[in-house]
Amino acid sequence: TKAGDPLKIFFFPLMSPGHMIPMLDIAKLFCRRGVSATIVTTPGNEPLLRTSIDRANSTYHHPLIHLLLLPFPPSVHHLLPSGSENLGSMSASDHVDFFIAIDALRGPLAELLGAHRPDCLVSDSIFPWTADAAFALGIPRLVFHGHGAFPLCVHRSLQLHNPHAGVSSDSEPFAVEGLPDHIQMTRSEISPIFCQPDFLRIIAEAEEKSFGVVVNTFYKLEPAYAELYRKPPGPRAWFVGPVSLSDKDDADRGGRLHPDHHRWLSWLNSKAENSVVYVCFGSLCELSGKQLREIALGLAASGQPFFWVVREKGDVAGEDWLPEGLEERGMVVIGWAPQVVVLNHPAVGGFVTHCGWNSTLEGVAAGVPMVTWPLWYEQFVNEKLLTEVVGIGVRVRRGGGGRSWVVTREEVAAAVAAVMGGGEEAEGRRRRAMEYAVAARAAVEEGGSSYQDIGRLLAELAAARAARGG
Ligand code: UDP
Repeated sequence: TKAGDPLKIFFFPLMSPGHMIPMLDIAKLFCRRGVSATIVTTPGNEPLLRTSIDRANSTYHHPLIHLLLLPFPPSVHHLLPSGSENLGSMSASDHVDFFIAIDALRGPLAELLGAHRPDCLVSDSIFPWTADAAFALGIPRLVFHGHGAFPLCVHRSLQLHNPHAGVSSDSEPFAVEGLPDHIQMTRSEISPIFCQPDFLRIIAEAEEKSFGVVVNTFYKLEPAYAELYRKPPGPRAWFVGPVSLSDKDDADRGGRLHPDHHRWLSWLNSKAENSVVYVCFGSLCELSGKQLREIALGLAASGQPFFWVVREKGDVAGEDWLPEGLEERGMVVIGWAPQVVVLNHPAVGGFVTHCGWNSTLEGVAAGVPMVTWPLWYEQFVNEKLLTEVVGIGVRVRRGGGGRSWVVTREEVAAAVAAVMGGGEEAEGRRRRAMEYAVAARAAVEEGGSSYQDIGRLLAELAAARAARGG
């Protein structure tokens, strides 16, 4: 390697849309700054990335984004339900087997790193063993958590202080210590990962060995938490987002363009500005037929046109959740929609979201107020950021019931009306949402905070390479 050669950075995301999509976006952002990026994934995941990569490569030309395929060893094929290699296309009950199967990629990944000797590996926090593989070869590893600064600070505080151990019930509130805002939680809002202290310790130790943390957020969204997170003894961290702005017109993100894409767009084109509510619960969730029906009736009762994406999971195969005539009131998409494209359409004026971090930030970047409806994992924490810190979200219901609830049609209609309607509060939320969207765009543009963080990070990686004699 010569000093002037592009930095060669490998990305190894968890095989789940919520991790692969933002990592590919980071690769795009880095490529535009002269990096040669390679996404490492398994063959079954190639179709989810290929069209987006080709699109990026034909847009920016040099250097290119590459794809390296790492097949699962035959010994774990029996752990891959129906041959699926992505959490997004399997049911929740198969997740544990899948994580065991991924573990079998340890050896192959180490070999691949040894053969290619990249200048850096960006890998998911959930793969702590990648830190050892990189460390053994003297390759700096960057951690990607998939969360923003607020959830990272909340998680760190929970891990340090363990406040949930001291409460007597799942619904008893406790304060999260050491944060700039007074944030309360209940045990029912805590991700099950906090019940696995050994695993958390392993992730933390791997992080300590790493070069730092790359975070998909932007400074102005959560300045106090951005400061707190990287304040020593916190990790070195670079805030590089919202990464979805790397190409918000990419309708292939997370898959291939749907045959109905143009029909959807012309439907949206026929609607008034800010009149449509977009409804989507991310890539993993499975809703019951009963819940789907309440959503359908709630959307119908709201009187608002809607664009509702329903994953082909849970009770979707049953017939009776979709009331007759509903499709005249809105668009029901079963499968996958180009979320970032839809959110940025001028007709879309609100977002009913499960508060996955990517969806949260994509909604912020699109400037739409949100109905927050967390289901599991760290989504309850993200809801608090939207409703209590930045003030652009309305809860569909208070509490931490998540998937054990059935939210009623009345609650759906009321929350949608609160977000989409007029009045001082709704207008305040809409105005703030627009201000955050403007700040998000400014952050990624030349000279913006995220643009500068990427520059600083790449300069440090180049210096590290030079120090290694590369
Ligand atoms: N997504 C999409 N179309 C869909 C569903 C999801 O493009 O129909 C994308 C969404 O834009 C986001 C990712 O999939 O980038 C989901 O990540 P998130 O963190 O929101 O939720 P998760 O799926 O991990 O629960």
